[in-house]
Amino acid sequence: MSTPQQPQRYTWPDGMKSACCISVDVDAEAPYLWARRAGMTPFIGQLEQRRFGPRVGIGRLFDLLASVDIRGSFFLPAAVAELHPDIAPAIVGRGHELALHGYFHESPTDTEEAEFEDALDASIDRLLAQTGVRPAGFRSPGWEMTRPMLAALAARGLAYDSSLMGFEHPYEIDNVVEIPVHWQLDDAVHFKFLGGGGDRWPPASTRAVGESWHAEWQAHHETGGLFMITVHPWIIGRAARIAMLRDLLSRLREVPDVWWASAAQIAEFHRSSSNAGRFAVESAPPPGIGPRRFKRN
Ligand SMILES: [Zn+2]
Repeated sequence: MSTPQQPQRYTWPDGMKSACCISVDVDAEAPYLWARRAGMTPFIGQLEQRRFGPRVGIGRLFDLLASVDIRGSFFLPAAVAELHPDIAPAIVGRGHELALHGYFHESPTDTEEAEFEDALDASIDRLLAQTGVRPAGFRSPGWEMTRPMLAALAARGLAYDSSLMGFEHPYEIDNVVEIPVHWQLDDAVHFKFLGGGGDRWPPASTRAVGESWHAEWQAHHETGGLFMITVHPWIIGRAARIAMLRDLLSRLREVPDVWWASAAQIAEFHRSSSNAGRFAVESAPPPGIGPRRFKRN
């Protein structure tokens, strides 16, 4: 496809105007362990904050999604599956999608290519062994990707990636179906607060985030986009935030022409629909245009 151009409208199934997907990144302790892979410290404050997710938050999310009859997509680092072997079966048992999110939530910016592939294979093996279901999709920790990472997903026959934001609806990048995300719709951006002086802004008010997300949904609905929320049980699982999400989802569930689907269902639809190939892009920068310095002689 060429640019610039008139934005093309995405076509959703059964004449639906837009789509919604609730994605849950079950990070829990995994990013903390990855950040301390050179050696643990004696401090347990952040660990306890993160363990709130498996202890309380995920159960609240299960109840909320059941009450509004939504099938979510749960991206589970394999280390969290290893630490909490009941989580993956619970996700599948409640009819949600179970998908990949690294082993130790390895950041792509400090992971070797071979290490990424080994972690990916080990993650597939662990989730498959715990549930009997082979995950169809991958979400990169920190939402960073590389060309080799996309190629590694394709080589393993995975149906989609969900880490990038090149469109507001599904597309293909390097022939991998991309189910896009959006920072504004990530609870961590608004609420994550670790303490200890390292945070750059205070947690947002739940009311403000609820209003912002509703406005985001309205705009996505008008333009025919995919409204993909990303939440983390240790962050969104706090009582007032769950109440905010319940209000929002209850409201949105009353709108008739919205397709609610898991990321895997959306990827499957994309491949088999008239949208396939209409939004295909390559990740490589155009040849001949690289970074350069401007210097006066
Ligand atoms: Zn994550």
